[in-house]
Amino acid sequence: MDEPQAVEVAFPIPEDRLFTYLSHRRLEVGVRVLARLKNRKVKGIVVNTEARPPEGIELKPVERALDEEPLTGPYTLKLGYWIAQQTLCSLGEALSAMLPSAMREKELPLLEDSQEFHRIENLSEEQTQAVRMIVESPTGWFYLQGPTGSGKTEVYLQAARHVIDTGKRVLYLVPEISLTFQLIDQTRKRFKRVAVLHSALSPSQRLREWERIRKGEVDLVLGARSAVFAPMDNIGLIVVDEEQEMSYKSQAVPRYHARSVAMILSKWQGARLVMGSATPSLEALHAIEEGLFVRLRLSRRLAGGAQPQVHLLDTRQLNEIFSPELAQAILDTHTEGLQSVIVLNRRGYTNLYHCRHCHYEMQCPHCSVPVTYHKSRDLVICHHCGYSGKSPPKCPNCGSSEVGWAGYGTELVEQELRRLFPQLRLARLDSDTVADRKQAAGIIKGFAGGDIDLLVGTQMIAKGLNFPRLKTVGILNADIGLSIPDFRSAERVYSLIRQTAGRAGRYRPDGQVYIQTYRPDYWVMQAAAQARDEEFQKRELELRKTTRLPPYTRLLRVVLRHRDVGKVKADAAALSLFFERSKTGSLEIIGPAPCPLEKLNDWYRYHALVCGPHVHELREIGHRMRSWKSPSRSVVELDMDPYHLR
Ligand code: ADP
Ligand code: ZN
Ligand code: ZN
Repeated sequence: MDEPQAVEVAFPIPEDRLFTYLSHRRLEVGVRVLARLKNRKVKGIVVNTEARPPEGIELKPVERALDEEPLTGPYTLKLGYWIAQQTLCSLGEALSAMLPSAMREKELPLLEDSQEFHRIENLSEEQTQAVRMIVESPTGWFYLQGPTGSGKTEVYLQAARHVIDTGKRVLYLVPEISLTFQLIDQTRKRFKRVAVLHSALSPSQRLREWERIRKGEVDLVLGARSAVFAPMDNIGLIVVDEEQEMSYKSQAVPRYHARSVAMILSKWQGARLVMGSATPSLEALHAIEEGLFVRLRLSRRLAGGAQPQVHLLDTRQLNEIFSPELAQAILDTHTEGLQSVIVLNRRGYTNLYHCRHCHYEMQCPHCSVPVTYHKSRDLVICHHCGYSGKSPPKCPNCGSSEVGWAGYGTELVEQELRRLFPQLRLARLDSDTVADRKQAAGIIKGFAGGDIDLLVGTQMIAKGLNFPRLKTVGILNADIGLSIPDFRSAERVYSLIRQTAGRAGRYRPDGQVYIQTYRPDYWVMQAAAQARDEEFQKRELELRKTTRLPPYTRLLRVVLRHRDVGKVKADAAALSLFFERSKTGSLEIIGPAPCPLEKLNDWYRYHALVCGPHVHELREIGHRMRSWKSPSRSVVELDMDPYHLR
């Protein structure tokens, strides 16, 4: 019989410790095990099989191995250590988020792959040049910048073709995969051995795809953020499309950014990295300026499209939802036999319940945000914690019946559109109507095929979709988001407007965009409407520089939360003291102060920002914070390079 083996296991717990167990079966690094930890059975991952057992302590055996073979690829463990170091968490926390959670099943049904090929025969001059630059150099970082519809996707796919033909593999990241049916179709058509990792896969389907990738049965992995952890070796090309999208940053531990992971992975694997966007993030622009990326440009629309004509509509005096110009445009578009899209970045019916008598505004009982009324279900709903309740007929504060709702969301917009244009075939696409991915696919196919005249929805429909007969795009309340106290709000609004506008006229010379706004004179709105991207970027970068904000400094956000408001306050004071003691050199501390979202899901929240030009200094204080115990036991959350400050 074999000597029992001592193995070190990492668990998804905040402490950095690894735990040693005995195993009577040979286990490999990367295998998941169930083991007893403080009287609970916890799932962990074997990270070392040559552990020297601590002397004089009797080791417990692992309860059970969950895998015959490891789930990890050649870089997984190294990446786990890197993520833990970079995002201030433990190795176990990092690894458990990187690997699939499902159990293996015995049978592995084969997925059928399409054999059909489709190629655009003639790349444009610029596309040819871009593809050549990418494939000629075996490594290196490139930034493909070009307006929506300028053929970036085609460049990625052609470069992928070349890389795969030379025996290497491709990792293709997109921000949110669930609605990118069109891209999924395309990649499946062009390449034989494809894995698609999207959020709608069940855990066991995900595991199955994972296994195929690990066994080398796949040449191209298409997926969202966490696909960057796919256990793939021999990568020749990593694509990060729509690089500026915030969804690449994880909002839960480990709080990694897929863009940074892609950068390090490309170094380790000796692969090319291509990021692309019409509106690069300011971080990327800074990196391009620093010479880290080679910029490749595409300048014009190819499929018969032209940049759309953009109209800014002042809604300050408007009493209806639709300005007459936009309403007329929708009608004219329909008369021409063409289609329109209306985008509003707020779902629900109305979003502000208020009392005209005492000015009470109804907030979620668990969060410090207003609730939204959803008419179809006759419920008020909190979009932050999911609370739902009945809409009170009288003011809960003073009993007056002079209560009403204000503001509007996609549900009300849909109703209004049906009233104004009963002759149009209309569909709504937002997370309320598309609980189901199939349904969403149906709506998108219906619109692409011309069975729907008018599509209304949230930013979901603003991204990545190609509709040949789409002429008119309306953006309602384009200002949503500008009032959020976050230094990136202008950047976000700008990029959303540019992307949404980019849906129009991809295949037509006569695309038109109507932007309804309360701030038509605001320079960000004007720049977005006139597509003055470089001016926007230059001004915003200068602003960031003078105010010492990213990309010119780095940030570490510390959030304290507690169910007791007094305790979190006390801990905020203690945190101040901690900073006074441990602040080094060039670091600057802002706060602690209540978060903009002071109460969330019954947790009271305070936050502080640590800013500084040197990331190693930030990480140092961050790692020290990890062992800081808040005196009143508030939960401490650390977020390096945060993307939300709410
Ligand atoms: P982007 O990714 O920049 O938004 P796409 O790659 O999706 O742009 O291209 C937009 C449209 O133009 C697609 O329908 C695509 O098939 C088409 N297209 C791309 N390259 C060419 C080309 N060289 N000639 C004609 N049409 C093209
Ligand atoms: Zn009242
Ligand atoms: Zn809530």
